[in-house]
Amino acid sequence: MDTYHASDSCTAAARNLLRLLNPLLKDEPPPTIVPGQLQSSCGEILSAIQALVPTLIPKSPIFANFHDGQVHDPLGGGSYAFQEDVVQPLLLALTNDEILANGGDGLLVDKQSNKTVPENDSVRPFQLLSRPIVIHAGAQPNNSPHAGTLVVFCYAFLLAREIRNRIKSMVDNADAKPPLVSVEITFVDTAPVKDHGVKIGGIEYQKSYRDVPGALAMHMADYKHVLHLLSTWSDIPFTTTFQSNFFSHPTIPSLLRYIVANHEFLGRQLSPKYGVLALRAACPISGCSLAEKHGRLNAYNNNSSHQNRNLPSAAPDTTIAFHCPYHGPHIICISKPSDVARLEANAPARNLIRSMSQLLDTGAHHVRVTGADYAGMYQEMFLYRPLAAWSAATGLAAGRTPHILYAPLIVDWSGAKLSKALYVRDGGYEAMKLFGTEGLCSFTQLKSRFGDDGVEGLRRLCEEVQRWFEDPRKLFRAYSVEYLQRVIMKGQKWTST
Ligand SMILES: [Zn+2]
Repeated sequence: MDTYHASDSCTAAARNLLRLLNPLLKDEPPPTIVPGQLQSSCGEILSAIQALVPTLIPKSPIFANFHDGQVHDPLGGGSYAFQEDVVQPLLLALTNDEILANGGDGLLVDKQSNKTVPENDSVRPFQLLSRPIVIHAGAQPNNSPHAGTLVVFCYAFLLAREIRNRIKSMVDNADAKPPLVSVEITFVDTAPVKDHGVKIGGIEYQKSYRDVPGALAMHMADYKHVLHLLSTWSDIPFTTTFQSNFFSHPTIPSLLRYIVANHEFLGRQLSPKYGVLALRAACPISGCSLAEKHGRLNAYNNNSSHQNRNLPSAAPDTTIAFHCPYHGPHIICISKPSDVARLEANAPARNLIRSMSQLLDTGAHHVRVTGADYAGMYQEMFLYRPLAAWSAATGLAAGRTPHILYAPLIVDWSGAKLSKALYVRDGGYEAMKLFGTEGLCSFTQLKSRFGDDGVEGLRRLCEEVQRWFEDPRKLFRAYSVEYLQRVIMKGQKWTST
């Protein structure tokens, strides 16, 4: 057994703390105590603790911080605008889409005499909703889901339940069948597998999860378990899909033709770093499966010009040639479904293509729930501007924009989001074991913490997200690991001021 030798600085800090603590060990406060003295000595004790704690493990020091347990949910921006309700504005927007698709004027256009929505009747429009509503969320299954991913899943199911309940409460009286509300989880099985990539000539190549046997299955059981629990609790059905399902959708080839024809403009817009579209396809040679990560060597042919060095002069269709460092170019024909199913896209390109496809779907409503780190400039640059350009150029999806709700981030002490990649690759959260918060790093650790297959930990998290829905200003801010420690690990609620 190792013997712990305290350093000189540790000993000095401990002595100082003990000196300050000593008066507290007496049964009665000292008779000479004066107002403010206790507060002053409390401050000294806290400082002494802060001086001692980093000396305990000098090789990887830890730091003590304190808080007063006051929880504030200040208003401003989204929390101000949606403090009363976040669901009704969404339902109005969906209703508007449906009216527009049916040739109506929509609810949101400026009307002096609005005949569609009578004044003081903010509920009635829901009755117009007839299409199924799909709440989408995604995950990269490269680790057992951590608290941030679980919050997104909880958000998706609770949002679906709230939408279902509100519509149901309206149509119960109208004697009509409410539209189905469901959750669809997309697994990004085209994420790179650690230690399976190579860099050759400054170009990065990756192997995707779906091309490495066993890699995808490793954590899938945790995801399915979580989704089944959330589905059962919310009474909301769910489906799961993968990237090949997405690229197999009938609208994809026509969208890809637009994307190939405009790849230069879109590449500049979607990749500030490389200026090219990050579309990928794994090398089809058996056992290879390398895909060029950033699409820098891709060659596009939209069948209107034949200047491409990798393609024959009379290419029969819109094609993309991809490059393997060992086996050379391989080509995908947009008109061949089996080819298109091989396609992969990085997050911005995937986000754009998926949104285009969903905007064109007149058979269902699509609402996306994603982490708040994707809000703001990311979506404006990578999604809304390219969508506006596409709509203007093609006339498609005129006046339509995606419906996206952003789930609060779970952040560490510094305000950085709890990162699955950091946990997986660099052991960035070793200290969380010491702090007793490791259960927030992965569902696997949450399960072992509670010893009940994760049910209690997930239930506590889900109930917390439910509280955010009941007071929607809470949906427009981040939550720290320290905040969730009490809620999830100890099962105790914080009370807002
Ligand atoms: Zn190859």
